[in-house]
Amino acid sequence: MVKKEFKAESKRLLDLMINSIYTHKEIFLRELISNASDAIDKMYYRALTDKSLTFNKDDYYIKIVADKNNRTLSILDTGIGMTKEELEENLGTIAQSGSFAFKKENELRDGYDIIGQFGVGFYSAFMVADSVTVISKALGSQESYKWESTGADGYTIEPCTKENVGTEIILKLKENTDDEKYDEFLEEYRLRAIIKKYSDFIRYPIKMDTSTM
Ligand code: ADP
Ligand code: MG
Repeated sequence: MVKKEFKAESKRLLDLMINSIYTHKEIFLRELISNASDAIDKMYYRALTDKSLTFNKDDYYIKIVADKNNRTLSILDTGIGMTKEELEENLGTIAQSGSFAFKKENELRDGYDIIGQFGVGFYSAFMVADSVTVISKALGSQESYKWESTGADGYTIEPCTKENVGTEIILKLKENTDDEKYDEFLEEYRLRAIIKKYSDFIRYPIKMDTSTM
């Protein structure tokens, strides 16, 4: 499979995230939940204007699944999903992201302080994960695609199967080091605390699957 390179700007942000010494790495969850919520919002607005769609609030939620055996943390949403092109555009090119508030060189150098204040977006997942997999099925599409990246060396996109419209983001957590314990992001109490702290205002239910915790 052909590995595609990130655009230069994306690469710089990615490097910043991968090598982050930022102490509040937990904000990655805020970013991914906020993206999930945005995706459900888009579904909602589409349903308002497209009479063939019905928006049943119960069908729209965000789900967190921690799998201790595989050391993966997944964030699922029943939002609008992404086509192959959208995966490419939105996740491969940081210029597409409205959140990238610190593009300038000097701001990037001081980036650690900026992280907490601004949304840093999707790439913040790389603060805690060695590899990130995004499985998505877009509204109106029969196909689904898998975007995968281990960071700086680029990403791949391939067809896959996904039954329902929406997106699933799977984080393969980094190995623990003496200073950093990534396992904490597999603990229910910890995840609940992070969600309460940063995502309390989210309008959609945030469910947690504890069966693999
Ligand atoms: P921002 O949210 O500020 O646009 P991000 O880096 O967080 O920036 O996300 C980049 C883009 O990727 C989003 O604008 C959106 O188009 C897409 N995206 C990310 N996560 C999802 C998701 N769960 N569902 C649908 N689209 C998503
Ligand atoms: Mg975002």
